[in-house]
Amino acid sequence: MNLFDPIEKIKGIGEKTAEKFNKTGIYNANDLLHYFPRSYSVMPEISRISALKESAHNGIAVVDVTVLGAPNVFRKSGRSFLSFYAGDTTGRIRVYIFGMPYLKKNFPQGRHVILKGNVTKRGSELMMSQPKVLSKEDYECLKGKINAVYPVNRDLPGSVVEKAVHAVLPLTYDLKDYLPEETKKSERLIAVSEAIYKMHMPDSMEDVYSARKRLAFDEFFLFFSRMHFLKNGTEKETSEYSFKDDGAVDRFIGKLPYELTGAQSRALSDIERDITSGYAANRLIQGDVGSGKTVIAFAAALAAVSNGYQALIMAPTEVLAAQHYKDIVQMTEAYSLPFRPGLLTGSLKASEKKKVKAGLASGDINLIIGTHALIQDDVEFKKLALVVTDEQHRFGVGQRMKAVTKGSSPHTFVMSATPIPRTLGLILYGDMDVSVIDELPGDRIERKNAVVDPTYRQKAYQMIVKHVRDGEQAYIICPMVESNDEDAFFDLQQSGNPGAETILQNVTDYTEELKEKLPSDIRIEALHGRMKPKEKNEIMERFAAHETDVLVSTTVVEVGVNVPNATIMLIENAERFGLSALHQLRGRIGRGSKQSYCIFMTGAPMNDMSKHSKERLNVLKTTNDGFKIAEEDLKLRGPGDFFGLRQSGLPYFKIADIYEDAELLKRTRSVLEHILNDDPEALNDLKEALKQKEDLSFTDFHGICL
Ligand code: ADP
Ligand code: MG
Repeated sequence: MNLFDPIEKIKGIGEKTAEKFNKTGIYNANDLLHYFPRSYSVMPEISRISALKESAHNGIAVVDVTVLGAPNVFRKSGRSFLSFYAGDTTGRIRVYIFGMPYLKKNFPQGRHVILKGNVTKRGSELMMSQPKVLSKEDYECLKGKINAVYPVNRDLPGSVVEKAVHAVLPLTYDLKDYLPEETKKSERLIAVSEAIYKMHMPDSMEDVYSARKRLAFDEFFLFFSRMHFLKNGTEKETSEYSFKDDGAVDRFIGKLPYELTGAQSRALSDIERDITSGYAANRLIQGDVGSGKTVIAFAAALAAVSNGYQALIMAPTEVLAAQHYKDIVQMTEAYSLPFRPGLLTGSLKASEKKKVKAGLASGDINLIIGTHALIQDDVEFKKLALVVTDEQHRFGVGQRMKAVTKGSSPHTFVMSATPIPRTLGLILYGDMDVSVIDELPGDRIERKNAVVDPTYRQKAYQMIVKHVRDGEQAYIICPMVESNDEDAFFDLQQSGNPGAETILQNVTDYTEELKEKLPSDIRIEALHGRMKPKEKNEIMERFAAHETDVLVSTTVVEVGVNVPNATIMLIENAERFGLSALHQLRGRIGRGSKQSYCIFMTGAPMNDMSKHSKERLNVLKTTNDGFKIAEEDLKLRGPGDFFGLRQSGLPYFKIADIYEDAELLKRTRSVLEHILNDDPEALNDLKEALKQKEDLSFTDFHGICL
């Protein structure tokens, strides 16, 4: 077996499993090696129950217990669960298992079991929910070891991935390293082969750190290299699509019910200048959430379409694509625009997709809106002349580049709400033209912000009820999907941010409880990233149509969604999120003309919160300027929480994080300069490496995004 052999060649992987790997973007051994764990877990020592009682900490624990009485089966809000007591010589613990009543027979009275699960306290009672049951041998084998936890994936359980990865691990020795030995030494970087091996099979967390450092370095480094060669090879590429200004854009803008802000007008003139210049545009349009980037994207698309070309608007999620599509259809009708719009997303039926694709090939559709499904499938255009990528920080660089090369060389505009600190922006986007929309539409009432602790929750609910009764809507954000989200618990342990008694809220249980706590006429729904795209769309649409009042969600609502009637947002465990993520989240409210409120609630009483956590959250109270927040984020976020919830601050890179790895980022620049100027041999290796990466299918979300 070698690196580029198809995945089917691995022993034990049949056609069916291979298909599942392919669906995740893994086609060969090399792809698999670049499919990295999302976190690591360590099997804890066995705890005595008395010790758990005394400890102030909740979290994952392992107990060695005897079942004290056969389980009872309960039903609550349509879900059934098992509950029983188990104990050791020092005390007892109540165990809950949800949704699997048939497991009852596994826990007869007197049975001896080792349970691993999340321990919480209610009053003086200790509880463990949804434990993993381990045999003595299992436990002995796993004790103290670091285990890779692979990304949650419906098709590919962690155990399947793990087995396959282990089968190909020896191939890491075939991985080429393009970095000169000397550089590795001076930058304290390990070899690529070692790094990839250690990502999957670390002996210690130090191994993980050093592996991660090397891979983060590579992401930055290859990114800069590619940028460098692109810039030198294609600078001022002439475009066959030079548009004439036929006044269509001005007429459209004139018909809008509002005036563009000064900053919007400036961005639009930048765009107009680009597309009439005779050169291919490559512009980043940065504007804080709510600054009105969508209408600018539409205007750019209109310029292409009114010149007889096709335009493409790419959104990071189906929800957002559907929303843009709806807006476009409405505007096309209201303002008699020449758009013949189409929508192309992953959840369309095959027959519908086929129809849309035919429309694109024939030119019947002249404006297509879609998700990255657009780029992955073999979509043909008649004459694509302009591409807008919305909220680009959600895309890998690879995806973006791929989108660009679809047409011969269309004008490219990238819209981003991620406020990149200006200093880093210069480094990252050195090759692009940048327009900044640094002004919010004038009709906005400043959002009110509060940082509170759980003692305030009752009041927050009252406030939500009051506003719902006034015809408004609310978001509640929780960090987890389900209570047995082990990854998230690990994140919690790693981050060191939260105070002692932090309870991590999860969307699933929270929604159930909220339905009991709020009056029954308040319509509540849950939304999270593990739902199917179609289901997510429907839930979002119901919320947008005001068929629901309160949406309990993970950060999936973070990107670009526009429901101006939503005026309240309550963010649970606010200390768990990066500042930029929180800023993006709160951008979902305050988009209409009504007063809006954002409540940042900590997971523990304020007195138990670290000074650092409080300081961070207070930044949000003192400023609404995304750029300032990004700078603060950079200053305040300590290293070490890089396994925390993914920050919205540019998951542009798979592993690296431009905030936390800012130093590394700077180093890569100087290493590259050195190689370019003084080391022709290394330069050759580098070019070779880049070429290879280009030949590979872009593994986008899972591999290094280049
Ligand atoms: P974002 O920059 O976050 O993508 P949107 O484009 O979604 O923001 O705009 C947010 C809201 O502001 C939308 O409801 C949009 O119609 C409205 N809007 C955009 N530009 C203006 C403006 N110049 N004046 C008033 N409202 C505007
Ligand atoms: Mg937007």
